[in-house]
Amino acid sequence: MTLHAPYDPDNIFAKILRGDMPSVKVYEDDVALAFMDVFPQTEGHTLVIPKDVEARNFLDMPTAKLGPFMDRVQRVAQAVEAALSPDGIVLTQFNGAPAGQTVFHLHFHIIPRREGEILKGHAQGGMADLDKLEQIAKKIRAQVS
Ligand code: 5GP
Repeated sequence: MTLHAPYDPDNIFAKILRGDMPSVKVYEDDVALAFMDVFPQTEGHTLVIPKDVEARNFLDMPTAKLGPFMDRVQRVAQAVEAALSPDGIVLTQFNGAPAGQTVFHLHFHIIPRREGEILKGHAQGGMADLDKLEQIAKKIRAQVS
């Protein structure tokens, strides 16, 4: 079903990539864009998406592009650690609506975890204050290698 539907060029992340929708960016190059999740599950919840590819999910991603993309995911995760000093980091990635995917352009979630902190539900947290997101993004941005 949704696992192999055609790519929708008007999905939210495609709009963000085109600059048609705003986002609080932490990293961008020719391979990937990383930006703050506007409904964060924890403070520092960051998304990394590939550029120049119509991949709805991990299964659609051209194999040759996976290595460079995962390099960016790791670098942004390392920057999140350096910037926010969490006790742990969860990486998640959902494929298809039944698996929990809600935006159909491949993305990895980088979710910092702290001892004793409750994780908000996936895509269920309230919308973050944009000034606060920008403050967090600034710290992460400064740490991306
Ligand atoms: P998925 O459910 O597809 O794995 O993840 C989609 C993520 O995108 C969710 O965590 C959700 O909070 C986030 N999201 C949805 N709409 C927007 C948006 O307009 N801007 C940003 N920055 N994140 C969004």
